[in-house]
Amino acid sequence: EAKKHKNSVRLFAPSMQEGYLNRVTLEQNLRQALGKNELYMVYQPQMTHEGVMYGVEALVRWNSKELGIVPPDKFIPVAEASGLMPKLGDFIMKRTLEEMKSFQEEMGFSFQVSLNISIKQFMEANFLEHLTHEIETIKLTNIVLCLEITESLFIEDIEYLLPLLQKIRSMGLSISMDDFGTGYSSLSILRKLPIDELKIDKSFVDTLIEDITAEKMVQNIISIGKNLELAILAEGVETKEQEVKLKRLGCDRFQGYLYAKPLNYEDLKLFVKAQKTV
Ligand code: C2E
Ligand code: CA
Ligand code: CA
Ligand code: CA
Repeated sequence: EAKKHKNSVRLFAPSMQEGYLNRVTLEQNLRQALGKNELYMVYQPQMTHEGVMYGVEALVRWNSKELGIVPPDKFIPVAEASGLMPKLGDFIMKRTLEEMKSFQEEMGFSFQVSLNISIKQFMEANFLEHLTHEIETIKLTNIVLCLEITESLFIEDIEYLLPLLQKIRSMGLSISMDDFGTGYSSLSILRKLPIDELKIDKSFVDTLIEDITAEKMVQNIISIGKNLELAILAEGVETKEQEVKLKRLGCDRFQGYLYAKPLNYEDLKLFVKAQKTV
């Protein structure tokens, strides 16, 4: 069977062959990755206006023995398409909460943790029960959790979403709208949504300095957010120049390589220690 597979693959053009192999290989490897301990979490600091870390965004990593490092925007879509996402999502949730709990115990320092929740994950019937169960099992106490949900979620069934979002907030969690500005959410929907934060997509920050259209866009996003009394977080901040401009436009939270790359548990400890001594 495997041989037959290989032979038929040769019929394709090189680029197609690669694409075909990638998807199948990715899926097969990903299926085993969880058991092989190849997945782990990294945490990217999020900074206040004053330059103090107030939170982190949890990001998943896959270091595959077979394939090398596979970026999340490559394997998450595969996980979703192949039905592996619930299992992967569980791992992400569990590992993050566990690590944050021990971080807190070890460092005596607590902060907000933002988890990326894919749309599919969020729309699953038992998403909330699941999350609640995890939080209770791990006995989280002081940890403030934020769920990052991409803007494209909000074109889904609003009648279903609204009570769910309200429930999440009543549990003391907060909600951030990720990649804001890249989707289609209308202002009237935005006004109805119980959210706490808008996250300005990196693509706008990237071109902020040279592109006046990007600047106008960021300006609009910030004024919309301020009108709705939301916090505004900019992602992908790499230069001081970008930071200065974002601050001038009224942005109040910052995340990007200028402050720190996503850090593993040990490196996050070092980062926090260095912050404390400033
Ligand atoms: P995202 O949620 O928009 O995450 C931000 C991405 O920008 C991350 O890439 C982060 O490492 C990167 N980044 C942050 N600051 C900078 C910067 O200053 N410069 C540059 N060049 N990049 C920066 P990453 O970790 O590769 O994640 C890519 C995407 O994969 C994420 O985009 C998110 O959509 C998805 N993802 C990652 N981890 C998870 C997860 O645990 N669950 C889910 N559902 N999706 C995840
Ligand atoms: Ca995110
Ligand atoms: Ca984002
Ligand atoms: Ca993004």
